[in-house]
Amino acid sequence: MALRNSNLPRILFLLAMGSVAALAAMKAGVATVRITPTELPFFLSGYAARTKPAERVAMDLYAKALALEDASGKRAVLVTLDLIGIPGDLRSEIAADLRTSHGLDPEALLLNCSHTHSGPAIRENLEIMFAFDAEHQAKTTRYRAFLRKALAGAAGEALDRLKPARLDYGVGHAEFAADRRALRLKDANPGSNPPATVDHTVPVIRVKSADGRMLAVVFGYSCHNTTLTGEFLEVNGDYAGHAQADLESAYPGTTAMFLMLCGGDQNPFPRSSRELAAEHGKSLADAVVAALGRRLTPVDGSIRASFVTHAIPLRPRSKEDIEAERNHSDIFHRRRAEWVLARMAKGENVGMVNYPAQALRIGGDFVLVAMGGEVVVDYGHRIKRAMPGKRVIVAGYSNDVMCYIPTLRILREGGYEADDSMIYYGQIGPFTERVEEQVMGTVNAALKNVGLPR
Ligand SMILES: [Zn+2]
Repeated sequence: MALRNSNLPRILFLLAMGSVAALAAMKAGVATVRITPTELPFFLSGYAARTKPAERVAMDLYAKALALEDASGKRAVLVTLDLIGIPGDLRSEIAADLRTSHGLDPEALLLNCSHTHSGPAIRENLEIMFAFDAEHQAKTTRYRAFLRKALAGAAGEALDRLKPARLDYGVGHAEFAADRRALRLKDANPGSNPPATVDHTVPVIRVKSADGRMLAVVFGYSCHNTTLTGEFLEVNGDYAGHAQADLESAYPGTTAMFLMLCGGDQNPFPRSSRELAAEHGKSLADAVVAALGRRLTPVDGSIRASFVTHAIPLRPRSKEDIEAERNHSDIFHRRRAEWVLARMAKGENVGMVNYPAQALRIGGDFVLVAMGGEVVVDYGHRIKRAMPGKRVIVAGYSNDVMCYIPTLRILREGGYEADDSMIYYGQIGPFTERVEEQVMGTVNAALKNVGLPR
């Protein structure tokens, strides 16, 4: 590390204070942009039962960018979004914008969605849920264009603000996530006790400036952001929005960023009221505060980023079969068929998902794995277990949310996450029995590119 004379007094002071770790050569910059839809009434995404747009904003939505740079100048940007999901094309466009404006390596841009079901519909994501009239179609098209500018702008601003910083990692615990597949089985067979899988850990990254101010706190949780159910027709960040707002008022000047982890098969429990959304948000914020109060471990060293996509096949269907689905009794099946046929007419390969996995490694033993789609909780456990002794965060809902990502167990069990949800995502049908192996192959390719696991 090069010591410039102007830094010497500060370095001597920090050494005297025993803050040797503050000498770390990391830099960080933070920026926030409000992404609340302004053209109300606006359709919300996430519940197929909704037939009307939202008329009011209960809570603003934000995109928050954290830029990092290591001693060698290698940079990465994490952007968290109070949105249900984004199409992969949008990420590609923003990555290209940032390469042009700031020379950012496209592999080092990570976009993660909170999966609030009380946020705006975004063109090409879950579009089959809606029958937009021309006016709403135009609104969502304008919103998507706004998003591209806003997200590239916030990421760029965070890069422009890079200043010496230190990062530390800790873990909290919150218990409101429940295995919703087990809950459904219980509802169907009262008195039964089906096995349930959850991950109640709350990983936390604290970002402090050289003068000791907390610039940002990044925290994750594996749970659908769906405390508010379909009858709530208002823009709302749900529990993740509350948790971020609670932390930002507890630590003025700090940007709180929520990372959605592997919550594909997890729901907040209980749910369906505004009070519960606030309560779950508070218990998550409390978990972060508790983690910050314990001993944190520094995250430091060189930044390595890898972004990999693999084609993962879906169970094959003939064109005739898809054409026949146009006469299905269910409207969503009919819309899926039209959507798929339109994609085929454009020459798209509808028989597979272009699946993205990303690894962002800092130093020797810290890695943030970011997977596309609605990733179920078993993947988080599996990936963390494969790297014992390392500090590993596994996020889903990153870079492209194109469908649910079941494990082989869930695919075989069937149900919403394995099969029915594919209709709303405009996919021809479920994955094949190789899905878990192929998803893990994509993740492992990204990990290998950053030198992990070792
Ligand atoms: Zn979902």
